[in-house]
Amino acid sequence: MKLFSTYFLLVLGLVLAVSALGCRTTLPEKSTDLLHSVQQRDQIIVGTKYDSPPFGYLDKDGQLKGLEVELAHEIAKRLLGDPNKVKFVQVNSSTRVAALNARHVDFVLATMTITPERKQVVNFTEPYYKSAQAIMVRENSGITSINDLADKRVNYVIGTTGEANLKKVLPKAKLLGFKSNTEAFSALSAGRADAFSQDDSILYGFLHEHCDVKVLPDRISEEPYGIAFRKDARSKPLQDAIQKILDDMAKEEYLQGLRQKWVRPAPPTVCAL
Ligand code: GLU
Repeated sequence: MKLFSTYFLLVLGLVLAVSALGCRTTLPEKSTDLLHSVQQRDQIIVGTKYDSPPFGYLDKDGQLKGLEVELAHEIAKRLLGDPNKVKFVQVNSSTRVAALNARHVDFVLATMTITPERKQVVNFTEPYYKSAQAIMVRENSGITSINDLADKRVNYVIGTTGEANLKKVLPKAKLLGFKSNTEAFSALSAGRADAFSQDDSILYGFLHEHCDVKVLPDRISEEPYGIAFRKDARSKPLQDAIQKILDDMAKEEYLQGLRQKWVRPAPPTVCAL
């Protein structure tokens, strides 16, 4: 009996030792690193906006297009060897941080301005685009500057930096919040508001498609866009790899070419006819 229990304890010890070893090999530190997970999955999952021309938007055929969409494909090409190894998940200004922290996406590439407040919650790359908050009005409105808007109806998108800025610069205006750029623009276009304040680069996207609106010369704030990552050690290797890719893109003037291709501040020539 004594011999049996010694034998039993020996076997049990061996089983425990092997399974502990097994646990270590099936869950090595590396598999918790996001860069490694992305390489194993062979795909990046990117949070992008679908309502923000010319960065991320659905074209007339329902295809997702834009500067950030093209940038994501190029990141996939440089990171995984194939521009198609990317899956897009729709986010908007008020859902992008939640989508990131809920691990629905690897990172957010969605016209997101780097601010000190947001840096408390997410990690950003260096800026890949520098925008500025501006104001759009209807062409025939007679409004020529921000000073004409003190008591007017001004649209903004909920969750944007613009929302907070407008409360400071136009404290007496009637500020109207919308969930998306498309809704905010439609309300302006239909006369349900006097102005729409948003990043100039996004307003240019709408300007390029419509003839009855214009962007005022005033700028309210600087809006440098960064790619946002979760604020955890797991994400750092992927963030570093993508920062290196962005640095290379800047050196090669690839980012400059992307900006010239997509952001067109002038109204379409057809409007001048
Ligand atoms: N860039 C601004 C922001 O991050 C406005 C556009 C947007 O929300 O994406 O708040």
